[in-house]
Order: sequence, then C-alpha cells, then structure tokens
Amino acid sequence: MNINLAINQGSKILRKKFIPNPILDSEILMAKTINKDRKNILLNSDNILNKNDLNFFYKLIEQRSLGKPVAYLINKKSFWNSEFFVTKDILIPRPDTELIVENILSLTKQKSKINILDIGIGSGCILLSILKERKNFFGTGIDVSKKCIKISKINAIKHKVISRLKLYKSDVDKFNLGKYDLIVSNPPYIKTRDLKYLEKDVAEFEPRLALDGGLDGLSEIRKVIKKSSELIKKNGKFILEIGFDQKNKVINLLKKEGFYINSALKDLGYNDRCIVSTKI
Ligand code: GLN
Repeated sequence: MNINLAINQGSKILRKKFIPNPILDSEILMAKTINKDRKNILLNSDNILNKNDLNFFYKLIEQRSLGKPVAYLINKKSFWNSEFFVTKDILIPRPDTELIVENILSLTKQKSKINILDIGIGSGCILLSILKERKNFFGTGIDVSKKCIKISKINAIKHKVISRLKLYKSDVDKFNLGKYDLIVSNPPYIKTRDLKYLEKDVAEFEPRLALDGGLDGLSEIRKVIKKSSELIKKNGKFILEIGFDQKNKVINLLKKEGFYINSALKDLGYNDRCIVSTKI
C-alpha cells in the first residue's frame, strides 16, 4: 500500500471515532512511522510502505482512535520556539502557557543576570524556553515527580541550557534552597470533581498529578504561594498560572502573603489564566 492510501485509511478510522483533526493526525503519525517530517511524506505520497511500517502505523492510528494524544504517540510537542520531548508522565505543554513565557520575557528585558525558580517544572517548557532566550539567566526547577525531573533534564540537554539549570525532586513544602528574583509555576489547579469533565484525551491520558488541585482546585496553589513568598527576593516577580475561575481567590491569597498584584492575563480563549505579582 502506498503512503497516500494509508493516510486516507488512517484518517477514516480516526474520523469514525470523532477525533477532531483526522487528516492532520494521520499525516503526523505517518511521519513518525517512516521517521520523516510531514512535508517529506506529502512529497513522497506514492512510495510503497513495507509491512512492518504499515503495521506500526495502524497501531498508532488505533491508539489515537482511543484518545491517546498525538504528543504522547510521537513523544514530542512544540512550545514557544522549541520542540520538547514528552512522555505520558508529563503534562503536554499548552499553547495557553506560552503566555507566561511571553510575559516573563517582556518583564525581564532589562535584566542581565537573574535566578528563576520553576515550581512543578514538568517537561521544562516554561523555564527552558526562557533560559534559551536569555543566555545570562540561571534556573532552578523542582517537581514531585522523579520522571518529570528526568524528562526536563533530557530537554535541558537537548536545548543546551543544562549548565545553567539545577533540578531537584522535591515537594514544594519541603524545598528551602536559595532566593529567587523570579518564580514561575503552573501547578495542578483543576477541582478533583471536575477532572472527569475535561476532554477525554486529557482526562484519560494526562497525569492526574499535574492536573488535580484538590477539593477546591486551590490546594497546590496555596502551597506554591506560601513557599514562593519565602523563597522570593524583595521586589521579585511571581508569575502563576491559574484556572479560569480562580482569579479573585488567588489574588486574595497572594495579597495575604505580601504580594502586590501587577496584572491578570487572559489566555487564547479569553479566560483569566495567569496572575503577575511582585513581592513587597
Ligand atoms: N490547563 C490545563 C488543562 O486543563 C490544566 C493544567 C493545570 O492544572 N495546571 O488542560
């Protein structure tokens, strides 16, 4: 069977299972199968696939048809200016989170050398994107998940920022090392009882540890704010990703811990998604 026909059949299977972008996904999974980029497969669509490749492709299509995210099937996701290695153990980098990177880069335009802490580093997408653009900055990343530490290390090596990065497997409560000019965090903030209402791809495949914010969605956010108020330097900036309905509660928590609120940013869907504050 040739590549073109296989892609068509793959996309038909995906469409039947109501997967949103069946043709695109089928093309991406074909690119993974033959280890080429998407442009290349479109140019070589008449090439005949061998039996092994065809079997491998249909396995990927089957997994996608069950809802497994493409990023987990191809082990990569683009975020900001880079491509990140991802596995099922980490939250897939979200376009909405690029907002945080954009904001930090504009906040730090004039700064020459600062220390940044990322609480819950995950894949490393936020901190590594910043370190890549600001060659004099230093980063520290912590995560409760050992697998996240491993993956963020792989990404830091891939993006050549490992010499300016320290990684610790630690619970936010127990971490007491250093003082930081800027702290960033995208903690789990979904209410436990709402997890089941997330899209199937997210609810069934992404790590609960990265999503579950407890009964009111704020359990981890509370810990992160408290710890950040201890670890941040005076006048340091704190950038926190939040759930769409958490703005007012989070602003109150921040004020109680001595933060001045600079701004609340909206995401691509016009939801409140990020609070920028300064330690006073
Ligand atoms: N924005 C993510 C989602 O719902 C949640 C990430 C998080 O809890 N930090 O897809």
